[in-house]
Amino acid sequence: MKNILIIYTGGTIGMINSDNGYVPKEGYMEEALKSIPSLYKKGMPNFDLYEMNPLLDSSNMTVNEWNKIAKLIYDKYDNYDGFVILHGTDTMAYTASALSFMLENLSKPVILTGSQIPLFELRSDGSDNLITSLLIASDDKIHEVCLYFGGSLMRGNRTTKYSSDGLIAFLSPNYPLLAEAGITIKYNLKALEPKPTDKLRLQLLENIPIGVIKVFPGIQFSLFESIMTDRLKGIVIETFGNGNIPGDGNALLPIIKKAFSNGTVVAVCSQCPQGTVRLGTYETSSALKNAGAVSGYDITTEAAVAKLYYLFSCGYDKDKIKLEMEKDLRGEISA
Ligand code: ASP
Repeated sequence: MKNILIIYTGGTIGMINSDNGYVPKEGYMEEALKSIPSLYKKGMPNFDLYEMNPLLDSSNMTVNEWNKIAKLIYDKYDNYDGFVILHGTDTMAYTASALSFMLENLSKPVILTGSQIPLFELRSDGSDNLITSLLIASDDKIHEVCLYFGGSLMRGNRTTKYSSDGLIAFLSPNYPLLAEAGITIKYNLKALEPKPTDKLRLQLLENIPIGVIKVFPGIQFSLFESIMTDRLKGIVIETFGNGNIPGDGNALLPIIKKAFSNGTVVAVCSQCPQGTVRLGTYETSSALKNAGAVSGYDITTEAAVAKLYYLFSCGYDKDKIKLEMEKDLRGEISA
């Protein structure tokens, strides 16, 4: 029988109502799991529960929590066949992306899941998401960090939270689903990462100062000049379409050039969830390229942020980071 470690970090799945709205509660998940009979039926794996301290609404997740989760998986790696992380939905795509970079040569499944409705409430999606995640985490086919939600298994670093209230809360707009859970769980074998031959390597992250700017019509870039100091290590620019920014008459390019001369890595993503950045397709994106920005291609903003944290934490210099940003490291960009 397979052994799975459930790591409970917080999130709606285990929350209860308080005077100030939903909050996670210590010790609650252990009791909640005892009340789900399907978890103990034939065909289910054995599992242990590890409760993080403190439990968090995932809006409060930081690099420190990512380090705690990744270190726990690394330390317990030989004791379990797979890992299920119960996590709030708000930043689940960021955590999934970060873990994918931190855990290099992962050969066991690491599945993040949660719910939109708490386990204790009517119509909760929590027990289905948990049960299916446990089954997927017991399957030898998966060698990567995934996110399972609402019937779909997705590569973690390709996901984005798409709905704040629907039970299909996540999408993987630029990569096919890894599996679909209907009456049976159907794996998309050709979409899965191959099993690595090297040993698992853990890279902890440092709290690197990075930023994200979303471009909009009429944006006054001069307002952002004050953040473009040499303290800012990396910035993700969420551009229009293929990588386009407003052209004449605004101050973006001088600011990007300033960032460049300060040694800040400027990575370009698109506001369009689906499709890729192609710097130079339009005049409005050529300038970004000429100013030294790198293309994130079809990476999500969540994965671009996590990748910047990761590459800087590896201690690489700026040139190496720029090269790596444009390379596919963990299936986060299409080759
Ligand atoms: N605010 C919650 C969280 O991310 C939302 C959820 O879990 O669905 O922790």
